[in-house]
Amino acid sequence: MSKLLIVGTVAFDAIETPFGKTDKILGGAATYIALSAAHFGIDSSVVSVIGEDFPEKYLDLLRDRNVNLDALEVVKGGNTFFWSGKYHNDMNTRDTLDTQLNVLADFSPNVPEAYKNSEIVMLGNLHPAVQMSVIDQVNNPQLIVLDTMNFWMDSELELLKKVIARVDVITINDEEARQLSGEYSLVKAARKIRDMGPDYVVIKKGEHGALLFHNEEMFFAPALPLEEVFDPTGAGDTFAGGFAGYLAKTKDVSFGNMKNAVIYGSNLASFCVEKFGTERMLELEQGELERRLKNFQALTQFEINLA
Ligand code: AMP
Repeated sequence: MSKLLIVGTVAFDAIETPFGKTDKILGGAATYIALSAAHFGIDSSVVSVIGEDFPEKYLDLLRDRNVNLDALEVVKGGNTFFWSGKYHNDMNTRDTLDTQLNVLADFSPNVPEAYKNSEIVMLGNLHPAVQMSVIDQVNNPQLIVLDTMNFWMDSELELLKKVIARVDVITINDEEARQLSGEYSLVKAARKIRDMGPDYVVIKKGEHGALLFHNEEMFFAPALPLEEVFDPTGAGDTFAGGFAGYLAKTKDVSFGNMKNAVIYGSNLASFCVEKFGTERMLELEQGELERRLKNFQALTQFEINLA
């Protein structure tokens, strides 16, 4: 069975959208990635850190889905990473209200021996120093995928660029791609980012879908227009988890198969936004996933006779 190594925050989130507000709930990049990748029946392990304040019942939600937590460090007396954000009315943009690194500030990751040979490494959003340390510890994976965000571009750009130079795929949103490259055109931005290292660039555009760039090729996956959008938190990570999980399952990292991975990622992310936090992902069933994949196909299929 393929192995997927997941790095990222396991967190408390407090979220405000036009539809409501939550207190501290389960969140974190690695949490969403793991919940999403769990749909592919692969062997996955999370490398992260939490404080003693993190409830055991949250960890059980991951264990119940066969996510290995041997490399999830618990810091005695420490507080878990906390993030709070507020979405604008368009639900595509948000302001970060608070980021408390807490136990993440001094975290030094240890990849378990059994996962050093993972085929796919998914470096989810967290400190680039932790992402770098994980790259140093693994043995020649088939593919390293990196996700990051503006917070780390603002605070750790030089280190982040060194991480970017060592990965095969980067997934970022459109605003971040523009910030990182200094280019408004996403085509030019993707080219500049590929020049920094990754062979593949995925640019996520929220409700406007996702673009995959490789050499001179380009692929676009729409986001499914949804009736219910309550909370986009975690959609990017859920996308990344679906993308990496599908590639781990199929063991094929060609451009052609990556197109399918983008569709699987988009499909999973479309569920994530339907309820607050991880709620929808926790109740998601395989049948629903398959039905919606058919909707994705129908949305983009058309026949034109080109002379
Ligand atoms: P997304 O909506 O996909 O960008 O991911 C939101 C998740 O990322 C939330 O659950 C947060 O806990 C987590 N998060 C927010 N800010 C950061 C950060 N600076 N580093 C790592 N994870 C973060």
